[in-house]
Amino acid sequence: MLDAPDGDGYRLRMRPAPACPEIAVVDLQVCDRCGLCLPLCPPEAIHLELTDLVVDRTTCTGCRKCIAPCPVGALTMVAA
Ligand code: SF4
Ligand code: SF4
Repeated sequence: MLDAPDGDGYRLRMRPAPACPEIAVVDLQVCDRCGLCLPLCPPEAIHLELTDLVVDRTTCTGCRKCIAPCPVGALTMVAA
């Protein structure tokens, strides 16, 4: 699914649409790559890519199950 055209150009319209209005994001300056949050995500939206953690905005359901367990507070919810 693609974002609705909004006059902001081809690149924005080609971004995958989020799965829900609010999604988790990770602050890579804070995340210590402990991996604790990966198995806590029901739809498996959190991945390690090379050495960085990535939340797949098309898969995150906004359930917040990853937020509180992060020992360093690196995960927060933002508008999708
Ligand atoms: S639990 Fe927090 S610190 Fe650990 S990998 Fe996930 S986001 Fe990073
Ligand atoms: S909010 Fe829920 S679905 Fe989204 S990354 Fe966190 S645990 Fe996964």
